[in-house]
Amino acid sequence: MFHEFTGFIKCGKCGENYRSEQTTYADGEKERYWRCAGKCGNESIKGSTMKKLTASVLGLDFFDEGEMDELLEKAVIQNGTVTFYFKDGHTEIRTYQERKRGYHHSKAYRAYMRELMQFAKNGDPESKAKAMELKKEWKRDDNRWQRQ
Ligand SMILES: [Zn+2]
Repeated sequence: MFHEFTGFIKCGKCGENYRSEQTTYADGEKERYWRCAGKCGNESIKGSTMKKLTASVLGLDFFDEGEMDELLEKAVIQNGTVTFYFKDGHTEIRTYQERKRGYHHSKAYRAYMRELMQFAKNGDPESKAKAMELKKEWKRDDNRWQRQ
């Protein structure tokens, strides 16, 4: 499947291409991420962030793939910055910071957390013991930790 930034985003750490990955959050919202195809651990960037930054260096209000192809050579990601290489030889640097949505928990996990918080709020020894028990039980059941 072709995506607008395929072959365009390069890793500033190891030189690999960034490749896209779609994440579906627990609330059903979909988000495309771009991450290094190598194993260097360089930071990922959201497709939407990449589009915003690309539009910004091109002086556009909205992302335009045609303009991008015409004017830009590549984008290199390192240390929370994207360096855009223009075909005319100049570069523009943009910084970005992704808010981490982290792990998206299942309904069971959220219910578990609510229960734990309730026990913590009560604060009595019995509640503390129940909370410990609940934590132990939860840890045993590994598959409930699965990323959704
Ligand atoms: Zn890399």
